[in-house]
Amino acid sequence: MEFEPVIGLEVHAQLKTKTKIFCGCSTSFGAPPNTHTCPVCLGMPGVLPVLNKKVVDYTLRMALATNCEIARESRFARKNYFYPDLPKGYQISQYELPIAEHGFIDVEVDDGQQRIGITRIHMEEDAGKLGHDPDRPVSMVDFNRTGVPLIEIVSEPDIRSAREAGAYLRHLRSIVRYLGICDGNLEEGSFRCDANVSIRPKGAEKLGTRTELKNLNSFKHVEKALLYEIGRQREILLEGGQIVQETRLWDPDNNKTTSMRGKEEAHDYRYFPDPDLLPLVIDDKWIRRLKNSLPELPDQKNKRFMEKFDLPSYDAGLLTSDRELADYFEACISQFPRPKQVSNWIMGSLLGLLNAQDKTITESPISPQNLARLLALIEEGTISGKIAKTVFDEMARTGKPAKQIVAEKGLVQITDTDAIDDVVAKVISKNPKEVEAYKNGKTKLLGFFVGQVMRETKGKANPKLVNEILKRKLE
Ligand SMILES: [Zn+2]
Repeated sequence: MEFEPVIGLEVHAQLKTKTKIFCGCSTSFGAPPNTHTCPVCLGMPGVLPVLNKKVVDYTLRMALATNCEIARESRFARKNYFYPDLPKGYQISQYELPIAEHGFIDVEVDDGQQRIGITRIHMEEDAGKLGHDPDRPVSMVDFNRTGVPLIEIVSEPDIRSAREAGAYLRHLRSIVRYLGICDGNLEEGSFRCDANVSIRPKGAEKLGTRTELKNLNSFKHVEKALLYEIGRQREILLEGGQIVQETRLWDPDNNKTTSMRGKEEAHDYRYFPDPDLLPLVIDDKWIRRLKNSLPELPDQKNKRFMEKFDLPSYDAGLLTSDRELADYFEACISQFPRPKQVSNWIMGSLLGLLNAQDKTITESPISPQNLARLLALIEEGTISGKIAKTVFDEMARTGKPAKQIVAEKGLVQITDTDAIDDVVAKVISKNPKEVEAYKNGKTKLLGFFVGQVMRETKGKANPKLVNEILKRKLE
């Protein structure tokens, strides 16, 4: 029997505001424990939360970028539960009346574009953090993170494969980073994802029993965990068993999910409207102002790159997946206006280099200006494409500009016809057997001769001239 997975994702994105959602404490990371706290975020009696307007701005930007309908009036609610990292005994979130609903984003998957619905986006505060002392039987709590603003983005169960889930998540992350509202770092927890997954016989309407997956802290883990879970559920159903509704934890060391808690332990949070916070009213002027201030988003940039620079869809998609990478590309072509050549060098050599050094584009040892100048040297015929690769590696190692490396290492291309003539003559006289074979019709040997000439000239001979001269002399 063929099964179809049904997946929905819940993403928590930490907003990059300077201060917390309901008080003036700093959100900066890495401070000594409990130094970014005040009576409000510590939940002292008698204090009142005051909503940070920037949090609303950022959430609305996300809502607009994901085609959501914005609620003119939304409410904060208390989500009640006890845990030592939650000093108030409740988390302020939004429940019945979230700020945004009914959106969507389009993601690129193998067989084309797929529209994934966004059920809702709401604002909430983060909890604190527990630390466990490995040497003593104690736990410590740090409230610095308490009250740091989050948005939760809930997708519709529109996702049908692990790959699609990965594509959706990458696209969502690219949007928050373009908007500048979240740094989108899964590993550091500023962009977290839980997944709901069930499977059903292909063609069936009714949804199967779902499980919830947690601890998915990298794109790779999300896809692997979903694949594992889909396989696990399939096996149970094929053996005539039943799926238990439960929360399961991804165990990246053993590549499997394990049961964390069952439905009978599921929380009933007893949400109710927070009496300390007024309904949040948003008028048209506010929305218009934010709409006008939105940056060019990944989809728009992708389209522009394809139309204006005539780039293939693959190139445009990759270059615009990251705002900084797109900026790098544009800085490069402003000085060397050959988009496809620039794109090839960025996607091949540059991203390869950054990958190997585990660096981001903003940490690139080669500036866009220097890459543009290197490509200009090839274009002018000063160096060959092959030598350019050597110069590129040297640029990465030393940070020196291309011109200086070419001068210091004597890498200027040989375009002097007489000089190439001499080398060609030498190669021909050294390889009489190959010359004979070539003349008898084995013209494939041209490559062999070109290789020999290049070796003699240490790759510096202009390949076009080498080809011309060789053909002339061999025929
Ligand atoms: Zn505070």
